[in-house]
Amino acid sequence: MKIKKQRKVLVIDDSQTNLILLKAHLNSMGLVAILTENPAEGMQIATEQRPDIILLDVMMPDIDGFEICRRLKADVRTSSIPVIFVSAKDQSEDKIFGLKLGAIDYVTKPFNKGELQVRIGIVLQMIELQERLLLLANTDELTGLSNRRHFFEILEREILQAKIRGGSVAIMMFDIDHFKNINDTYGHLCGDKVLQQVGKILHENIYPLDLAARYGGEEFVILMPGMPVDIAGQRAEKLRQIVDEYRWEIANKPISVTCSVGVTVFDGSDNTDPYELIRRADDALYAAKHRGRNCVILFDQLDPNEQVQEHQNEDFHELQTKISSLASRIKVQTIGTITAFAKAIAAKDHYLARHAENVKTYVTSIAKKMEVSHALTEQLQVAAVLHDLGKIVIPNDILHKTTALTDEEYKLVQRHPIASAEILAPVGLFGQEVVIIRHHHENFDGTGYPNGLVGKNIPIGSRIIAVADAFDVMTSNYWSDPPKTPQEAIAEIAKLANTKFDPEVIDALKSAYLEHQNDWPLAQNAVAQTPA
Ligand code: GH3
Ligand code: MG
Ligand code: MG
Repeated sequence: MKIKKQRKVLVIDDSQTNLILLKAHLNSMGLVAILTENPAEGMQIATEQRPDIILLDVMMPDIDGFEICRRLKADVRTSSIPVIFVSAKDQSEDKIFGLKLGAIDYVTKPFNKGELQVRIGIVLQMIELQERLLLLANTDELTGLSNRRHFFEILEREILQAKIRGGSVAIMMFDIDHFKNINDTYGHLCGDKVLQQVGKILHENIYPLDLAARYGGEEFVILMPGMPVDIAGQRAEKLRQIVDEYRWEIANKPISVTCSVGVTVFDGSDNTDPYELIRRADDALYAAKHRGRNCVILFDQLDPNEQVQEHQNEDFHELQTKISSLASRIKVQTIGTITAFAKAIAAKDHYLARHAENVKTYVTSIAKKMEVSHALTEQLQVAAVLHDLGKIVIPNDILHKTTALTDEEYKLVQRHPIASAEILAPVGLFGQEVVIIRHHHENFDGTGYPNGLVGKNIPIGSRIIAVADAFDVMTSNYWSDPPKTPQEAIAEIAKLANTKFDPEVIDALKSAYLEHQNDWPLAQNAVAQTPA
């Protein structure tokens, strides 16, 4: 249930009788009344308690109501509070004078209770509308966080505060890594859900005085007033980890995203502006992307002093190289272990093990022809070896069935890409490979499984595996009896361009075959293998 905000009305009037009467009327409207006979005290309350409305008498000793109104309107802290004059001065020129000073309404004494309440009600409605509009203007529609406009407004205020009163402001820029892949693989709606959830995670893991905003696209920014530089780095790292550890369930599949983070802290000492601070956070973010993503970099680490930077960079790079080589050794070992498992499982089905190796050879040559990145080629090689791991969910008699499959059996066969992906996902080292494997039975025209992805929405790695997989199945003597010659297989695959397969991958297969006809494992395939 949404709790309605309790509105406060400040009444400044030198007559006790009026104060008591007005209080009764305001209370009967559900409003809180703050009363004072003293104009100077009234101004102080207005600044400190920020009432929603001020009811102001005109004729008072010391300072009259008109002068108070003028002062309230001249002070940024109180200028936006609506003032209603409630006065015995009932001449038109008095009313015009009061309204010209910036009052929103003018009620004459003796007032009619009903009329006063209606007029206050109208002002309250106006306040609510203003608040709703302000919220809309400050909010990012997709995530519900503050938008960039509001962020800059608050940042400007915090910088001023730090300059005047001392203290610091930390700014953290979060950019989701490879977010384009999420859109490309799962569609924009899933991309939107990920953005909403990242926004929610950031918002829920900061303190009430901090501000999380969507800076643009897949970039978020967090403002932490009073945050010292050493702690800012730790806090950013904590948030990075929370995002990293969160698992999304998209199309029945657990996926994760990571963020690169740039942090800068303004300590109030230089004459900087919000844009300069954003530039610093952005520079640090750029460095985080450059240093391999999924990490936090502080702008202070990018010391402009060349010597220090050189020194830091040498150490940094040495450590980074060591860790990265350690990580790839761990990955290679893990692949070895999983492949050994896969082979053990495949031992009862000799073809599976050989099939995996063959597909690896074909994808490597196709990837080279397509000039894909080195990273993708490596992912493809791992995916090729592991893509059929999930076949363990298919009973042998169905796997080896030579007659048509029943609907139930076909459903079971269709489970294997998901099963492969699910076996590998918890390992954590195979983020991209899991995506490739999951979609290696999608068809180019959208009729494949498990998600019915269409055309280029199917990850390129999956489109390559699909062609290499089909080529090996057709040319091997086990699943195809008699096996097709490579030329026949290529012609068969070419017939399925744009329906089952990506035509660009087929072209790459053709030219890869021309180059590799003598060294591809085709000759071995011709040697009969008896199924287990
Ligand atoms: P990097 O690791 O270098 O940051 O790679 P990236 O793919 O995350 O970055 P890039 O800037 O290349 O792509 C950002 C993508 O974010 C492109 C754009 O289509 C997508 N995007 C921006 N706004 C939205 C949105 O509101 N919803 C969705 N679904 N996608 C968005
Ligand atoms: Mg990004
Ligand atoms: Mg970006």
